[in-house]
Amino acid sequence: MTRRSVPVAWWPLLLLAGLAAPARSAEPACLTALASRPAPAIQTPLVAPIAAPAGTDDYRDRLRPTPLGWARLDHWCLWVEPAASDGPAALWDQRWLTAIEAALTRWQKLLPITRVADPAAAQVRVLRQRPPLMRDASGRTRASHGRALLEVLEVNRGGSWVLEPRVQVLISPGQRPQATEATALHELGHAFGLWGHSDDAADAMAAVPGAQPVLELSPRDRATLRWLYRQPSRFGQPAPALPEGSAASP
Ligand SMILES: [Zn+2]
Repeated sequence: MTRRSVPVAWWPLLLLAGLAAPARSAEPACLTALASRPAPAIQTPLVAPIAAPAGTDDYRDRLRPTPLGWARLDHWCLWVEPAASDGPAALWDQRWLTAIEAALTRWQKLLPITRVADPAAAQVRVLRQRPPLMRDASGRTRASHGRALLEVLEVNRGGSWVLEPRVQVLISPGQRPQATEATALHELGHAFGLWGHSDDAADAMAAVPGAQPVLELSPRDRATLRWLYRQPSRFGQPAPALPEGSAASP
């Protein structure tokens, strides 16, 4: 593709448009957590789904909120485990990282997400790690390539306590790049608040993936996300102060 130059006669208009544009508001900073503690009175991080009106073209009725509401933030800070820079693992690490970054780009088109170098500044941490085996209701163990683990925390950032979701996303190394990317797209969806599964294999958040890895967010994924981010949330808001001497861990 060739670059076309802008005709000279357009320059004044472009300058005017530039002057008239509103100043971009600065994105919130990702501050290092000074301390964190479990939010009080949380027995389980997720509760039962809510009913949806008939005719909705999304899967909101399959999402589970926390006891304190929907686990979503207006702005996310995310850390991804870096790849080894040399040695025998470097090539595989880099392939894993490239697949994670491709999946992350899909979510960054829809949500404000800042990638940070300090894990303590992040609410979402993506680790190159095989998830531990999970035991299902019948007692059988089940292996998976990805898992997202949610905690509901109060976090001290910059001296004030804020209610936050904290999500560890474990993505196995050693899968094919497309499979890693599809796994990451799905698990990041949980991390950003889609705590539930769609019943359609064409959705990134499908409970049972289809034969082809889903590498793009479907219209239903987007509709569900749009609905979720219109819901009120206490996350990201100040947490009530605890008495002095209460337990807190870094
Ligand atoms: Zn899932």
